Amino acid sequence: MPIAGEAAYREGLDRLLASLDAIPTDGRIRLAKKTSNLFRARAATDTPGLDVSGLAAVIAIDPDARTADVGGMCTYEDLVAATLPFGLAPTVVPQLKTITLGGAVTGMGIESSSFRAGLPHEAVRSMDILTGGGQIVTATPDGPHSDLYFGFPNSYGSLGYATRLTIDLEPVGRSVEMRHVRFHALDELLAAMREIVDSRAYLGETVDYLDGVVFSRTESYLTLGRKSDEQGPLSDYTGMHVYYRSLQHADGVTRDRLTTHDYLWRWDTDWFWCSRAFGAQNPRVRRWWPKHLLRSSFYWKLVALDRRFDIGDRLAARKGEPPGERVVQDIEVRIDRTVEFLDWFLTEIPIEPLWLCPLRLREPLASGADPARPWPLYPLEPHETYVNVGFWSAVPEQPGQIEGRANRLIEAKVSELGGHKSLYSEAFYPRAEFDALYGGTVSAELKSRYDPTGRLLGLYDKTVRRQ
Ligand SMILES: Cc1cc2nc3c(=O)[nH]c(=O)nc-3n(C[C@H](O)[C@H](O)[C@H](O)COP(=O)(O)OP(=O)(O)OC[C@H]3O[C@@H](n4cnc5c(N)ncnc54)[C@H](O)[C@@H]3O)c2cc1C
Repeated sequence: MPIAGEAAYREGLDRLLASLDAIPTDGRIRLAKKTSNLFRARAATDTPGLDVSGLAAVIAIDPDARTADVGGMCTYEDLVAATLPFGLAPTVVPQLKTITLGGAVTGMGIESSSFRAGLPHEAVRSMDILTGGGQIVTATPDGPHSDLYFGFPNSYGSLGYATRLTIDLEPVGRSVEMRHVRFHALDELLAAMREIVDSRAYLGETVDYLDGVVFSRTESYLTLGRKSDEQGPLSDYTGMHVYYRSLQHADGVTRDRLTTHDYLWRWDTDWFWCSRAFGAQNPRVRRWWPKHLLRSSFYWKLVALDRRFDIGDRLAARKGEPPGERVVQDIEVRIDRTVEFLDWFLTEIPIEPLWLCPLRLREPLASGADPARPWPLYPLEPHETYVNVGFWSAVPEQPGQIEGRANRLIEAKVSELGGHKSLYSEAFYPRAEFDALYGGTVSAELKSRYDPTGRLLGLYDKTVRRQ
């Protein structure tokens, strides 16, 4: 991935501003972007979108300061390709290659480094943002737009679009040594997770990366990764072998090793496990499946086709089965409520496997942050460990059920346990509950400053009303 430089970024910005000028001054502002990792459907529109095609590159990398200066629409795939030759990587690399830096900062992201490095937005030093009011402002933790800096995460483009971000990078090794630890009971897994988060080690060996998979109440795993430059055999899960299957074993600990590149993208090849819905894990199909199409962005295209032609529901109807309700969500609860959530989930919602990823806000907090509520639109408490639980599948609809029955049950359970859910997928919260969960009046206050005429859709309209 070539590094584009300042002049290319300026050109991209000019194109963006020209496309903004082409939108009537009372017209809605939206992105015209090729890829997306949003799961909720968006309303169709005839209004031209913002041309962000020139904002997708890495602008500069400073290996001494360990920072990257990046266009807002740059994908992590391109960003990582530019940083790895320097032995550096973003502090948190979301698992899907086409997630963009701007998307992960405004829409939240997480990965196995989050128990020590927090979330992608915490690595941001400064952001240039095109606001709903049509200005480009620079938001930093202690500058004149610090309110926008802290309010931007979880705003999903309702306040403005990040055109350029400067982020921290961290050193990585050439490979990642992995240990897959088998558990037969969920409370034992959570106890081990808590210990690792606190000590950053397991059985005397450093842990740099930590995530987990639950296959059932009695079969679950933690994967512990360690940055390494040691030589040795490397595995490859981009061909016939499937990464998540490599975790499974009867007892104890197994070891494996991937290049850092392959470790960072280990979940993209089979979209965690979701590629099985398309037959891509069936050896007879996989043998013929072009290797370059084993990637999440291709499965997105298949999902779009399924939605357009209702393929899944039609196939189910042929077999006499009910249509499915999509349950594609990531939620977060405190670590001490996680067993309770998992127990409830495994009883009520017939979906497996589940992905687990612990997270804590980075310490120390950014200067200028409110110590009680540093990121007001997605309130997580400092010094507290949370666990993200991801589940991405469908459950059979029940005759005459309310729209989103299973999704609503999950929302209620997560709220009861004091947690939150990510807003990239369907949400059903009543307005008052939504406001209480996601920042109260902060969103409206920021909107009146940065989008006074309401040219950008509001957060509730986007995420719950799906406008
Ligand atoms: C099935 C699924 C699995 C997921 N798994 C993971 C995961 O494993 N790890 C993880 O970290 N995240 C995951 N996500 C969440 C994902 O990180 C967020 O949805 C993120 O916002 C997607 O970024 P994107 O670049 O694809 O943005 P898009 O999908 O294009 O847009 C997302 C939202 O962000 C806004 N937006 C996009 N770019 C910008 C910008 N530059 N400035 C301001 N607003 C912008 C858009 O208007 C939109 O509202 C998952 C999402 C889905 C649907």
